[in-house]
Amino acid sequence: MEHEFKKKFGQNFLSDKNLLQAIVNDAEICEKDNVLEIGAGAGALTKPLSEKAKRVVSFEIDRDLQDHLLSLNLKNTEFVFTDALKESINTIEKHFKGEKYKLVANLPYYITTPLIFKFLEESDSVDSLTIMVQKEVAERMTAKEGGKDYGVLTVMVGFFGEAKITRVVGRQMFFPQPNVDSAVVNITRNQKFKDINRKDFYEFIKACFSMRRKTLANNLSGYLKLNKTQLTQKLSTFDLTRRAESFSLNEFIEIFKEIKK
Ligand code: SAM
Repeated sequence: MEHEFKKKFGQNFLSDKNLLQAIVNDAEICEKDNVLEIGAGAGALTKPLSEKAKRVVSFEIDRDLQDHLLSLNLKNTEFVFTDALKESINTIEKHFKGEKYKLVANLPYYITTPLIFKFLEESDSVDSLTIMVQKEVAERMTAKEGGKDYGVLTVMVGFFGEAKITRVVGRQMFFPQPNVDSAVVNITRNQKFKDINRKDFYEFIKACFSMRRKTLANNLSGYLKLNKTQLTQKLSTFDLTRRAESFSLNEFIEIFKEIKK
């Protein structure tokens, strides 16, 4: 297949069959599963997905790949040639007729965070996300509190599900070779915090981390428009002299609930 690789679409393709199969295994795909792939590329991952899954819907923005992808004649597979970020979750999920699905993707780096948040925030039908992302983004998603990697991304991913790194993938596995290594992250959705307003919680967490080196009291007094004394009174059971990076997800949830009382 002849193809002019397009940097603007984050086109770094995989071809190693063992690695591609391993990603399908990481996603725990079986014959009952619907799969959504974002970014089919040359179909390297679509193929082993289609061999395992009940049905695959694969989005690809680059129409130059259309003839090649359709010529693969993959069973149970539908290709959609459009920008997945611009499609509403509703439109995307119509392809699965209301059934649950798993998202599997070797994501173009430039859409990693917006795409993950789009599905975590807006979808009730996505069961898990198994995604290849930049290694440092994977480390931020799965970080433990207390370290420099722990931040808004960690807390928000934890709010929606359990995240783990299933494998690290060196840059030499891609063509063209990117400047960074990658990792596969598996996020399994759970409904632990389904009663908490997602958007409000996200705004709260962004405020908590707005100045990383300041105490939580500093960051929250602006957000809540309270002076330090009022704030300490309102949240008297919490030690607000700590920095945001030292608080666990459950502690953030407790503080958030107290604020909303
Ligand atoms: N899955 C293939 C593989 O593993 O070899 C290709 C992965 S490549 C990192 C990302 C693919 O996503 C590219 O083919 C690119 O054209 C496509 N892409 C980029 N932005 C997209 C978007 N907004 N919607 C759908 N596809 C997109």
